[in-house]
Amino acid sequence: MAEFTMELNDEQKEVRDWIHGFAADVIRPAAAEWDEREETPWPVIQEAAKVGIYSLDFYAQQYFDPTGLGIPMAMEELFWGDAGIALSIVGTGLAAVGVLANGTEEQIGTWIPQMYGDANDVKVAAFCSSEPDAGSDVASMRTRAVYDEAKDEWVINGTKTWATNGGIANVHVVVAVVDSELGSKGHASFIVPLGTPGLSQGQKFKKHGIRASHTAEVVLENVRVPGSCLLGGKEKLDERLARARERAKAGGGERLKNAAMATFEASRPAVGAMAVGTARAAYEVALDYAKTREQFGRPIIDNQGVAFQLADMRTSIDAARLLVWRASWMAVSGKQFTSAEGSMSKLFASETAKKVTGQAIQILGGNGYTREYPVERMHRDAAIYTIFEGTSEIQRLVIARTLSGMPIR
Ligand SMILES: Cc1cc2nc3c(=O)[nH]c(=O)nc-3n(C[C@H](O)[C@H](O)[C@H](O)COP(=O)(O)OP(=O)(O)OC[C@H]3O[C@@H](n4cnc5c(N)ncnc54)[C@H](O)[C@@H]3O)c2cc1C
Repeated sequence: MAEFTMELNDEQKEVRDWIHGFAADVIRPAAAEWDEREETPWPVIQEAAKVGIYSLDFYAQQYFDPTGLGIPMAMEELFWGDAGIALSIVGTGLAAVGVLANGTEEQIGTWIPQMYGDANDVKVAAFCSSEPDAGSDVASMRTRAVYDEAKDEWVINGTKTWATNGGIANVHVVVAVVDSELGSKGHASFIVPLGTPGLSQGQKFKKHGIRASHTAEVVLENVRVPGSCLLGGKEKLDERLARARERAKAGGGERLKNAAMATFEASRPAVGAMAVGTARAAYEVALDYAKTREQFGRPIIDNQGVAFQLADMRTSIDAARLLVWRASWMAVSGKQFTSAEGSMSKLFASETAKKVTGQAIQILGGNGYTREYPVERMHRDAAIYTIFEGTSEIQRLVIARTLSGMPIR
């Protein structure tokens, strides 16, 4: 029987402590400033690049941790530091994964270095899928990419929204419809370098939380990119579309859907880990405060009403982490997500973060409600986890459909 342990090995502990040190010494002290400025924290990203945390190598090392815990550990520690700054540091990874998953070796070698730049000249990348009328309902995407065979170029038109790093990225990965008959199976991803005529930033959103992370619309007007910018190449796309048409004819769409679902199940625990980081940060502030703040001549934690809240907060955080670790371990071990365990972890961790950060405000009383203390920021930040990478309702839909096998709407 395979050995089972929940003890991190020495190497993992070392990496975790190193990331935690960066989060505590560099990210946390900068959090309030960049939240107020509502701007990308370029100097912090640069610091992360200098120590090696802002790089593809860093993610590759965590990703290939055979226990599956590398990525959730890294996410928890960075987001413990601050969610907005951490998203500015890991946001490029979303676009990089898009290229790694679908790109050719040449595309990976050409574009990923341009996404990160180097420590003296850091760059960021954006992944642009969501649209004003295609959020949860990805299949209703309207952005079109049409092939101009004579010039071997793709012409892209449409408006993307909510793009993290949209408009300021050195490289945009844009998802567009190439065959409208095939729903989400007729989508393809394209590289659009900054400065390509026709690509512009629309409105930059003024947000409730994660304000150090830049979120904007990206407008594409007759954007022309060479054939080499289609991720995976034309031949592979044509083969994939042909297979999808065959399957659609034979009523085999389910298998394709299952492949896409498995990808989401494997990526959602990472968002769950971000939520665990934010929840843990708020819980720690609340615990310290409850032990030192005195009312009625004794620390407020002496009251069961406060102590029990802290007990519940910590229990939920640990439960969330366990769900995240289970799903991450399943992904790396090639297990089937027969109960949508990845979605479960994201759902529970994100709802936990929202609840726990709210409880932390309550425990800090009036101070919790001010910007003098970090928990109000953490509460604003936590709200994003139940929205992006699939809302809580969509997670419940996925879990319910997976458990029941019924087409629940
Ligand atoms: C800060 C931020 C950063 C983001 N970064 C990116 C990014 O980098 N790239 C990118 O492509 N996208 C990004 N997104 C977009 C994000 O993924 C979407 O906002 C999300 O998928 C929800 O889509 P929507 O906002 O259109 O909400 P809608 O889909 O309109 O949903 C509105 C409400 O209706 C509910 N709902 C919808 N359908 C159902 C249903 N079938 N059953 C039950 N309830 C339902 C939802 O749960 C939600 O409560 C980002 C969003 C934000 C806010």
